[in-house]
Amino acid sequence: MNTVLELRALTKRYPTHSAVDGISLAIEQGEFFALVGPSGCGKTTTLRLIGGFEEPTSGEIYLAGRPVAGTRPYQRDVSTVFQNYALFPHLTVAQNVAFGLERRKHLTRHEIRAKVDQALALVQLSGKEARRPDQISGGERQRAALARSLVLEPKVLLLDEPLSALDPKLRKQMRSELKSLQRRVGIAFLFITHDQEEALSLADRMAVMNRGVLEQVGTSRELYQQPRSRFVAEFLGGVNWVNGAAVRPEAVRLSREQPANGAHFLAATVEGSTFLGNFLQVETRLANGVLCTAQIAQNGYEFARGECVHVWWNPADELRIADRD
Ligand code: ADP
Ligand code: MG
Repeated sequence: MNTVLELRALTKRYPTHSAVDGISLAIEQGEFFALVGPSGCGKTTTLRLIGGFEEPTSGEIYLAGRPVAGTRPYQRDVSTVFQNYALFPHLTVAQNVAFGLERRKHLTRHEIRAKVDQALALVQLSGKEARRPDQISGGERQRAALARSLVLEPKVLLLDEPLSALDPKLRKQMRSELKSLQRRVGIAFLFITHDQEEALSLADRMAVMNRGVLEQVGTSRELYQQPRSRFVAEFLGGVNWVNGAAVRPEAVRLSREQPANGAHFLAATVEGSTFLGNFLQVETRLANGVLCTAQIAQNGYEFARGECVHVWWNPADELRIADRD
């Protein structure tokens, strides 16, 4: 493994509170890493510290093994794609992409032109060089912002909720484009989002952040299936707290008959169901009064309100959560 970015006990304190509170993290070369957490948990502040737009109160940042303390943003081998893209409205797409190159590197006009062309081809914007940002679509502006950052060939690309300004359909499409782009360029991406589904689907590894601290770091699968805290479990998906066990709604099964040996089951009453396209969400109430939600395959099977059912699950699907506070 080859660490490109390391944070050691990174802290940013404001007069009234700590936005980032002692986070330590190592990101490997070529990795797609997501930092995910609710609004206000300190994601943007973390990115701004790495980019050099804020000074940490304490702690260190290392890029390719070197401390970056005291260096200006343009001297750091990172590049940021901002939430609002921050394209210059009066410059063309090509001029926007060339801007950082002209400032940062000593290149001839010919070399700059070649790199800009290459970056625009990478994000499928060839042919749109001469347009201004208001003459291209939202998805294209997003790609122009990516090209502008990638052209600098950073060691790490920092992305602050880059898909949040797009409509849901385009957002899903850009999600897969972003992933394949990252694979092609091989640069480490540090991607921040408050959208857990986006993080789960994109990241090789991810960290869940809560009130300035990292709750857990691991692969998407590890965090979803083995959350260490109640916060992580509930942030990444639904959780039923049934009979001392935590079970995700998609692991809950419903049947009229008593389930086979080995399954854990409880009697429940159906409170209602919602058709959600690819599955049916059924709300049930257990004898102890606790609500239990099941997401079951849409197979034409209906559960009527007031009906008595068995709620059951495979014991292997129970989440083992150490910290339940
Ligand atoms: P996120 O990006 O996860 O939504 P931010 O990093 O923007 O969160 O903010 C984290 C916390 O720090 C919030 O409580 C926010 O209000 C606070 N904060 C951010 N910038 C400043 C600042 N310049 N001065 C004081 N508080 C700030
Ligand atoms: Mg933010």
